Parts: sequence; C-alpha cells; structure tokens
Amino acid sequence: MPPSDAPHLQGLDALQVYEADVTREDIIREYGVQADDIVKLSSNENPLGCSPHVTLAVALQLGALSRYPDGAGVTLRQYLGDFHGVSADCVTLANGGQDLLALLAAATLSTADGKNQNARMVYAQYALSDYQLASLNITQQAVCVPAQQYGHDLAAMAEVINATPECRLVLLANPNNPTGTLLTAEAIAKFVARVPSSVLVVIDEAYIEFTPKQTSVRLTQTFDNVVILRTFSKAYGLAGLKIGYAISSPVLAELLKLSRQAMGANVLALAAAQAALADQTFLTDYLAFNAEQRQALYKGLDSLGIEFVPSVANFVMVNVGDGQTVYQALLEQGIVVRVLSGYGLDAWIRVSVGLPEENNRFLDTLAQVLA
Ligand SMILES: *Cc1c(COP(=O)(O)O)cnc(C)c1O
Repeated sequence: MPPSDAPHLQGLDALQVYEADVTREDIIREYGVQADDIVKLSSNENPLGCSPHVTLAVALQLGALSRYPDGAGVTLRQYLGDFHGVSADCVTLANGGQDLLALLAAATLSTADGKNQNARMVYAQYALSDYQLASLNITQQAVCVPAQQYGHDLAAMAEVINATPECRLVLLANPNNPTGTLLTAEAIAKFVARVPSSVLVVIDEAYIEFTPKQTSVRLTQTFDNVVILRTFSKAYGLAGLKIGYAISSPVLAELLKLSRQAMGANVLALAAAQAALADQTFLTDYLAFNAEQRQALYKGLDSLGIEFVPSVANFVMVNVGDGQTVYQALLEQGIVVRVLSGYGLDAWIRVSVGLPEENNRFLDTLAQVLA
C-alpha cells in the first residue's frame, strides 16, 4: 500500500521512541560478554526479586489463566484502601504507573474534541523522562520549570502555574527519578494549596516506599484535584507484572473509571500485588538492604573521587564527565546503566543499587573506565 493511503495517526510523527534497555542477547552478541557476567543496573528493579509469598500466590493462579480478571479489582482495591486508610472507592488499578500517567495526561490535555487546544502541562526540569513525555504525546504543551539543586522548585512551579491560565496538569515526582531528590509532604501540601482547583496535580510516588513518611496520600482526601500514583514495579519487585494504581478522591476515581481500560490489571498481577502488600517484612528487609548497599556505593564513589547526588531511593545519579562514553565503556564490560542525556544531564549516568557483588563490579569497572 502506498504511504499516501496509510491512515494518518495524528501525533505519532512527533513521538519519540522510548529507548529500552539493551537486551542481554545484544550484549552477549555484540561484546562477547558471558551471560553470567551481565550486571543490569539500569531500571531500578529490586535485586532481591520479590516476596516468596508473591511467587506462591502467582503459582496458585496458573490453573485459572483462561478466565478474565475481575475488571474492577474489588479485592485488591479493598486491600489497598485499608492499607492507606482510604475508601476502596479512592483506588484505581492499572497496568503500571505509566499507564495511569498516559491516561491522566490524555484526560486533561487531549485536544481530540477540538477544545482544549491550549491546555498546558507544567513539570520540573530533571523530572519525567523524555519517554514519558513522548508516550503522553504532550511535548508541545509542556512547560518545564528549572530545577533547584536537582530537585523540584515548588515555589517557582506554583508561580508558573498561576501565571498560566491554560495549565490543566502538573506532574510532581516524589522522590524524583533520576535525581533521587525528595520533597517533604509539608512542602507539597503548601504547594497544592497554591494551585487552582482547575489544575490536576499528579504526584508520582513510584519510589515513596523508600521514604514512606513523605507520602501525600492524605491530600487526596481534601483535594479533588490531587492524584497519587503508586506502582509495585520498584520496591515490591514486580516490574515484570506491570501493576500500579492511583489514589484520588472518589469523584475523581469515578471519572478515571470512565477512561481507563475495563481490565487494566491481569489475574497474575492482581494476585501478586495482594500478596506483596501482605508481606511488609519483605519490603522492610529490602529497604534496610538497599540503604546499606547505597551507603557502600557512596563510599566506593567517594574513594574514587566521583561526584554523586545523594539519593533517597534505589538508584544514584553519578557525574562521570561524559555519560554516553562511560555508558558505552561499561556496557562493553557487561554493565548496564542509564544515560541521562534525554534530561540534558550529559555528564551523568544513573545506576541502580544492586547486590553487593553487582555494585562492586560497577565500581571496579567504573574505576577502570575512568582511569
Ligand atoms: C518506574 C516508574 C514508574 C512506574 O512504572 P510502572 O512499571 O509503569 O508501574 C512511574 N514513575 C517513575 C518516575 C518511575 O521510575
């Protein structure tokens, strides 16, 4: 079929493609690295895996794969409501946090009906990677507010929002990825009080388990324009199942229901998330492990004289001078990290906190590469 007959998929031309991690197969083929020598520290996954209770819960579902999941996710939503001290009506399940981000952006910024042409989103520099922006297809409509010491400048963001009557959506990431910086719950509460109620405030708490006291969940009970995003992909170690959820007022949850896929979370994901939530010991142990290993990583970087931004989460941003070159050199030794040029952080890489032997391999190889 000649291209002129192809359907015009509006906006797709402008999309940037999310640069996925290189695959293990690529590394083995291109660099001759042994499979066992590959160290993947690029996606902030839990190096301990997940709770054994999760593995069991998933195994118990394997005989039921011919059945559709409970589209409403009644049981898990009840669990999550109890866990957070909110009504189950405040919880919306989805196929990962990314899914919810896309949905919320589409709901607030869509120009499909010809209205809303000038709708704007506000976000912070060094927050929200280019792939998220791309997948939301809102790059034309986003206003970026300069960061303050690698974190969000909430005062400046509030000013920009109030000076932008077309603003419909603001995204905060707390803690922020890739910088690992944190905003206090008090600072966010003050910020939300300054934002007009016509603006949806999305607070992405993908890493909040690492610093649970700073959650903003309680704001959803007073502000109809606040949504919290959570995921089981990071601290709970369920990245492969893609399950995330939103917490909001019931009114907003009702609206989200209208636009979300009827069955966002699959049978295995529902069972796994419930079991993961029930095993808080696994989570606590992992948090202690991560804090210890993160400290060891800092110590190693310090002794190499390498600058890093202290992180509250399971990844660290490291100044290596030339991110792309160091990324490539590490990759050729089988060590996968993230380049951050998409954020304009050309000098930096982001490394996830792994197992002790993985962190040591990273440090040793980095020392070699930089020598
Ligand atoms: C990982 C991550 C998410 C959610 O990922 P899902 O796997 O889609 O649940 C959301 N925001 C940030 C900043 C993340 O790092």
